[in-house]
Amino acid sequence: MKKSIKLLFVISIAIILAVLWFDRNNSSVIYHDPVEVADENPLKIDVADVHQGELLLVNEEYGIKESAKTDIKNLYKNQELTGDYGLLTTDIALSKEITAYFNEMIEGAKKDGVNNFLISSGYRSFEEQTKLYQEKGRDYALPGGYSEHQLGLALDVGSSEGTMAEAAEGKWIAENAWQYGFVLRYPQAKTDVTGIQYEPWHIRYVGKPHSVIMQDKNFVLEEYLAYLREKEQISATVDGKEYNIRYYAVSKAKKVKIPKGYNYTISGDNVGGVIITLYK
Ligand SMILES: [Zn+2]
Repeated sequence: MKKSIKLLFVISIAIILAVLWFDRNNSSVIYHDPVEVADENPLKIDVADVHQGELLLVNEEYGIKESAKTDIKNLYKNQELTGDYGLLTTDIALSKEITAYFNEMIEGAKKDGVNNFLISSGYRSFEEQTKLYQEKGRDYALPGGYSEHQLGLALDVGSSEGTMAEAAEGKWIAENAWQYGFVLRYPQAKTDVTGIQYEPWHIRYVGKPHSVIMQDKNFVLEEYLAYLREKEQISATVDGKEYNIRYYAVSKAKKVKIPKGYNYTISGDNVGGVIITLYK
């Protein structure tokens, strides 16, 4: 009898731990069929829209047509914009908006007891990226015009406790960045897709619900955009909020229909289309 009670106790603990583990890793995405909407408003899309926004794919194949963010600030000179982390050099710059999202994430890490972050690189101009490429070579940097750092949406995060591959900060980023709209852009398991070596320090802002869906489906940006192109439309409830994500191929100016009563954000994929994210 005693033995069976002990066994029951062990099983109960195992179930509780499994539920807790599942809950922690559950990105709370529910996919469903799009809701039929009768009333729609026309929305004009231009070819320029393909090259603006937070979902732009920038890699060796698809270069930057223009900087995505216009609110780039030097963080060292604007300390009021920064949070509880260090800046490796005095020339670190980043989009003001993205810095605010990053600060939120660092506060989240702090609650988990992880608090030794620093930014080692942020926004880079075309000239800075070109110089870096010439000085450090292809293994370290992409040529000018082909780096996400030029978007103002990407940054390199470091730890004062060691390399990101080993420090608690790197582990925390890999596990939690998606909850704050960021993605680890060059994971170890996806080097064949990204064409870039494992970079545990390089994060990229794509925003929610995209970061949550990418985490849920284990997609890097290349895969996520290909998935949207193929599906053309997905509907999902993320953190209790309903989203309808639509992909439109754009080779010339066109009009699409947006259901009435929805808010939306629009971003190009930098390849040949735009993604419209509808939400209530
Ligand atoms: Zn980087």
